Amino acid sequence: MMKRKMALILIVIIILAAISLSGYKSPMKYAAKKLTLWDHTKNTNTPTLAGGPEKKHRYTTRTKIIMMNHQYPYIIYYKGSNQKKQMALTFDDGPDNYFTPQILDILKREKVHATFFVVGKRAEANPQIVKRMYREGHIIGNHTWDHPFLTKLSAAKRYSEIKDTENEIFQITHYKTWLFRAPYGELNKDIIKQIDGMGYKIIAWSVDTVDWKGLKSGQIETIVFSHAENGSIILQHCAGGKNEDLSGTVKALPRIIEYYRREGFSFVTIPELLNLLQ
Ligand SMILES: [Zn+2]
Repeated sequence: MMKRKMALILIVIIILAAISLSGYKSPMKYAAKKLTLWDHTKNTNTPTLAGGPEKKHRYTTRTKIIMMNHQYPYIIYYKGSNQKKQMALTFDDGPDNYFTPQILDILKREKVHATFFVVGKRAEANPQIVKRMYREGHIIGNHTWDHPFLTKLSAAKRYSEIKDTENEIFQITHYKTWLFRAPYGELNKDIIKQIDGMGYKIIAWSVDTVDWKGLKSGQIETIVFSHAENGSIILQHCAGGKNEDLSGTVKALPRIIEYYRREGFSFVTIPELLNLLQ
């Protein structure tokens, strides 16, 4: 009996040693890592988010997204067909005038069209960047006016969060937004019905890079390379809050594009990935 116990302990020790030697790091480990802070107070034209930085709140799990998609399959989407070697890059919380232009430069150089879920207040502060997104063939989605918790707002306030953003983007580009992404992924039945009633499709994601944690490019690449597949919707950010460093996102982007192109994938916008027509 004693011998069996000792053997069991030995096996556990060997497995743990093998894991640590292999250098495996789960995304959870990245979360615990101390981050290098980039001074985001410099002139980046990034109004703050009403619900606070992404890192403080993240309730929506993959399971919840999949469940909501099953319940409302023609309103909520989180991935495209697994029959095509296509994926969509999505960038939230922008625009700013620091990280967003760098991301736009890379996408332009690589001839990739992405989908940007824009915060109305930040669009108002950076109209030229929104114009550029539109001019360069990207799809602009609605990510509310100031990024609040939708579940904490009245229906009237939620309406104006979405409508004001729609109006702002329309004023800048003459493009009417019809794709919506919820701040912090926070949704419930009432909100889903309201957004559907406003003529929007709700776009979630299948690969969360958690890049807002200020991850290094290699860490972001590891997350994408180990999760992305046919039809993936990849969630990244193109603007952060105070002290949120997205230089890892910028650095990882050309490598992600290059890697999947070599694998035969193409990068498309959300409407193209999901076969959605406005
Ligand atoms: Zn967001």
